[in-house]
Amino acid sequence: MPEWPEMEHYRLMLEQRITGKRITGANVFRDKSVNLPAEHFIAELTGRLVTGVTRHAKHLVIMLDSGNGLLLHLMLGGWLFFGNRDELPSRDFQTQLDFGGQTLFFLGLRLGYLHLHQVREIGRLLRHLGPDPMDSGFTERDMAVILHARRGVLKPLLVNQNKIGGIGNCYSDEICYEAGILPQRVCSTIEYREVVSLHRAIRSVFREAAASGGYIEKPFFAGDRLTGTYRCRVYDRKGETCDRCGEPIRFETIASRKTFYCSGCQQ
Ligand SMILES: [Zn+2]
Repeated sequence: MPEWPEMEHYRLMLEQRITGKRITGANVFRDKSVNLPAEHFIAELTGRLVTGVTRHAKHLVIMLDSGNGLLLHLMLGGWLFFGNRDELPSRDFQTQLDFGGQTLFFLGLRLGYLHLHQVREIGRLLRHLGPDPMDSGFTERDMAVILHARRGVLKPLLVNQNKIGGIGNCYSDEICYEAGILPQRVCSTIEYREVVSLHRAIRSVFREAAASGGYIEKPFFAGDRLTGTYRCRVYDRKGETCDRCGEPIRFETIASRKTFYCSGCQQ
């Protein structure tokens, strides 16, 4: 599932390609992907100018000059492609927005959605999300308060969108690895210096992953060589050798979530 780095990478690429551009047409091939009857949805979008693209945790919002925004959540398996139909690597697209000769395709939206709302309504819909860990206002102390208020273990807390926004199954493991902390650690036993390491690890992992276009290998445009080039250190690498200590990477299910870690260098 796309997480903070994938969505931030999409936000930047969309910002460059569609901000200031007018939507010349739209199409809906799966009614459940949108929240209005297809003809109404298309009519609301056609002719509108995109004024910006923002991100809130794993959500993107395509802002329109009508005062509405398109709220996108890719969930499991959703991805985006920008170009023309001949270049599309897959026919599994559910919605499209046309910008003159080029089109933004929304693919793999089985659980994901693209909903049109008034911008203030979007604010209300996203109010339950925890803080964005990359905001400069999110401090080590904030992280400590969130961790020490929990009885459970670290992994499910990191992926809880109501506590911290934007971290999912893959990067929670990468962050724990970077910080040298085991994902099964009981939150209340995590010392302040370890909280500082986790806070720092979120920033360094997210920065590197976003700059590498995230870990999901789905091109955003024809000839895209960046998207999906982040190399995970532990996620999905069960049995492979740890870069840091040479021990085999372990796999475990924690709170019904796939979890990868190194017991040699994480404590
Ligand atoms: Zn190791």
